[in-house]
Amino acid sequence: MDIVIATTNLGKLKEYREMLEKYSVNCLSLKDISFDMEIIEDGNTFKENSYIKAKAISDYTNLPVIADDSGLSVDALGGLPGIYSARFSGLEHNDKANRLKLIDELHKLNLSESKAHFTCAITYINNGEVIQTEGYVYGKVIDKEIGSNGFGYDSMFIPDGYNTTVGEIDEDSKNNISHRHNALIKLIEVLFK
Ligand code: IMP
Repeated sequence: MDIVIATTNLGKLKEYREMLEKYSVNCLSLKDISFDMEIIEDGNTFKENSYIKAKAISDYTNLPVIADDSGLSVDALGGLPGIYSARFSGLEHNDKANRLKLIDELHKLNLSESKAHFTCAITYINNGEVIQTEGYVYGKVIDKEIGSNGFGYDSMFIPDGYNTTVGEIDEDSKNNISHRHNALIKLIEVLFK
C-alpha cells in the first residue's frame, strides 16, 4: 500500500519509512507525487494544522495521506512556542534564532530551565476517512545548547529519564522516544492491529 507522507524533510521520511515498512507500506514524499503548492497552516492547534495539511494533499491525490504538525511547549512560557515553534524568533524555520529566543525568554523570567514537552499531531486521510492521533515526549528545556544532533530545540531539551539533551543522543535512540514515534504508534494501532 502506498501512503503519501506530507513532508519534504528526508529525515522525517526516513523515520516514517522505518516504522511503516513492516506493514508493507511504501512511503511517498510530496516530491514523489509532484505536490508543490503552499499550504497555509493557520489552525489554532497542532491537530488542526496537521488536518489542514493532510486535507490539502488529500484533495490533490487519491492516495492515503499522513500529515503531522509538531512543536515544543514550555510550561514557564504558558505553552509557547507551541504551534509557533518553527517561527518563534520571527524568522521562519531558523532553528538557531528560535533557540536563542527561547533562552532569552527563560532569562527574562530568571529561569535556567523549565518543564516542557514536545507534541506531534498526526492526521491520516484516506477516501474521506480521517484518523487523528497525538504523541508526546516530556522533559525539560535548559538555557543552554548542548550537542549538535537533531534539529530545532533538540540541543536544549532533556527528556525525562535522561541526563543528556536530545542533541547528544543518536538518531535511532531519539526516534524510539520521539513525539512523532509515539503519535505514529497510535496510528499504526488503529490502521493495522
Ligand atoms: P514540524 O511540525 O516538524 O515542522 O516542526 C515545527 C517546529 O517544531 C520545528 O521547526 C522545530 O522548531 C520544532 N520541533 C518539532 N519537532 C522537533 C524535534 O523532534 N526536535 C526539536 N524540535 C522540534
